[in-house]
Amino acid sequence: MKNDCVFCAIAEAEIPSFKVYEDELVLAYLDINPFTKGHTLVIPKVHSTGLLDTSDETLAAVLARVKKIAAHLKKALPCDGFNILQNNGAAAGQTVMHLHFHIVPRYGQEEITFVSHTGDMKALKALAEQLRF
Ligand code: AMP
Ligand code: ZN
Repeated sequence: MKNDCVFCAIAEAEIPSFKVYEDELVLAYLDINPFTKGHTLVIPKVHSTGLLDTSDETLAAVLARVKKIAAHLKKALPCDGFNILQNNGAAAGQTVMHLHFHIVPRYGQEEITFVSHTGDMKALKALAEQLRF
């Protein structure tokens, strides 16, 4: 398998996928461990690891495809909405190190949540000052 990347292998049809959409730049296929019915992954065919090592041009083009595919899924499934997820790094839950966007159709019943906590306004102010650029 080229560069040991399972998504490159899918892009080159070396291993099978449940393909939903393909064009010259991207491939979209069903996630084999779906959060919900219709959970789809969108990848660029050219390998990059994540958001930060992908060119702005490629990112813009891939995101336009994510929009197009999400619009199609929203019509084709009886879902009420969808989440776009894109994990960067193992600490963020990335398990396949080839850039991919998750489109997760939502039907209103699922429990998929990030847990938030009430922010400390003083700490937020200081953090924004530290981070602002
Ligand atoms: P992430 O945690 O963002 O790296 O997501 C990787 C996703 O790829 C997971 O949701 C896996 O279920 C999915 N996945 C891994 N291998 C395959 C495969 N061969 N075909 C489709 N989806 C896959
Ligand atoms: Zn790859």
